[in-house]
Amino acid sequence: MVLKIGLTGGIGSGKTTVANIFKVLGIPVFDADSVAKDIMNSDETLRMQIIKTFGEETYEGHAVNRKYLASIVFNDPFKLEQLNAIVHPATIAAGETWMRRQHTPYAVKEAALLFESGSAAGLDYVIGVFAPQALRIKRVMERDGISRQDVLARISRQIDEDIKRSLCDFEVTNDEQQLLIPQVEVLHEKFTQMHKERI
Ligand code: ATP
Repeated sequence: MVLKIGLTGGIGSGKTTVANIFKVLGIPVFDADSVAKDIMNSDETLRMQIIKTFGEETYEGHAVNRKYLASIVFNDPFKLEQLNAIVHPATIAAGETWMRRQHTPYAVKEAALLFESGSAAGLDYVIGVFAPQALRIKRVMERDGISRQDVLARISRQIDEDIKRSLCDFEVTNDEQQLLIPQVEVLHEKFTQMHKERI
């Protein structure tokens, strides 16, 4: 059976960059954040639940109005929790179905809120990507064209880095000092070996 590996890290840590290295090594990656966005548009039950909770204005036809929804939930922690309670279980279920279909020695599930959403349950191991906060802020400001304050607001919605570190089994340091690819290659060898020993 495929070894189930979680991949997480704070905003701008470089999760997607690390995920892309795994893909180059032939490892399939489930991108929970983009699946969560997609199923809000494609899953009829989810659409009905979101409309019931946040109003008709949250959809334009079958497409979620992301700007409008963000303006509601990012100004009210309770509403954000309500939205997460609708979207996270559906995303977790999609991830589990996806994992069962993989035939590589291991497969990776990438999620920014892996621990916060409860989607770390059922995984064999979790990798955390860590980078100094100043670097993360700079990367996200450049990538998304947003203010320092907006990045800090997003960081404040994620669990503390030290707590995250203590929950991870493996760590990748993406501080632009240590090389990234060799760190991922070491993990690739380790998981491939673990899979061999398990079967
Ligand atoms: P988010 O949680 O916001 O999706 P992320 O953790 O997936 O972020 P990435 O998108 O991988 O982070 O990286 C953030 C930005 O920093 C990207 O523009 C990426 O190209 C850049 N970046 C990441 N790692 C490095 C690196 N080692 N050297 C240079 N740029 C990097």
